[in-house]
Amino acid sequence: MTVRRTLPQRTRSLIGAWCFADHYGPDDVADTGGMDVAPHPHTGLQTVSWLFSGEIEHRDSLGSHAFVRPGELNLMTGGHGISHSEVSTPGTTVLHGVQLWVALPDEHRATARDFQHHVPEPVRPDGAEIRVFLGTLAGVTSPVRTFTPLLGAEIVLRPGAEITLPVDPAFEHGLLVDTGEVRFAETRLRPAELGFLEAGAARLTLANDSDGPARTVLLGGTPFEEEIVMWWNFIGRSHDDVVRAREDWMARLGGPRFGEVEGYDGDPLPAPELPNTPLKPRGRGR
Ligand code: MN
Repeated sequence: MTVRRTLPQRTRSLIGAWCFADHYGPDDVADTGGMDVAPHPHTGLQTVSWLFSGEIEHRDSLGSHAFVRPGELNLMTGGHGISHSEVSTPGTTVLHGVQLWVALPDEHRATARDFQHHVPEPVRPDGAEIRVFLGTLAGVTSPVRTFTPLLGAEIVLRPGAEITLPVDPAFEHGLLVDTGEVRFAETRLRPAELGFLEAGAARLTLANDSDGPARTVLLGGTPFEEEIVMWWNFIGRSHDDVVRAREDWMARLGGPRFGEVEGYDGDPLPAPELPNTPLKPRGRGR
């Protein structure tokens, strides 16, 4: 698959508690074979699968069996430990979307595993179509609970449209552009670029200067002040947290900490080898 890692970057690790953003596709699954990710673990984070096109079958060790579809939020909480598989369905011709991770704050990072599904009702102010999957924007509040103040929304702008949205000044924001050229806080962003705006703004202005519709994903949250250690599918606070999570996964793939994924045809994924040097904690700006 064609995957563009837009977060973390060398100069920025987090936007609010958003700590990972992969932008993928549009891929013709006839060429790429689609998505087939065997059961693998997560700790200390939540995952958001947000699709623009295609369909993914999700199974996890809570026993959830769900279909991820465009415009629908699927929020999985890893907490102390979860495992899941993701496979594009046979009916999928084009896979296109984002895979996002949220770091859990220290006091909640060992929370119980969880899975939530929510279909936001779109709102259409001023030439835009907005789907708020987490937090509050454009008069809409997602009912899905988060562990830190967060915003996640898909915003599609008609050609030439400009929109100004009130936002929480305590939030920092990132805008990921999928299609079109968008001006965000007076910076021009092209597809697969992620614009960042420091906390302090009471409103955001987005403008589509292109001839076609522009699709974006807006992420926000209060600055995440803790340092995290992120390696493979784990988030901890120290090198040793990650070593322990890796050992717990490898001791018996699945195992009590991560549980078993029922119904996936194949073996779980082994963890890669750890690097020879200790993993270093990273904070917001780095
Ligand atoms: Mn995963």
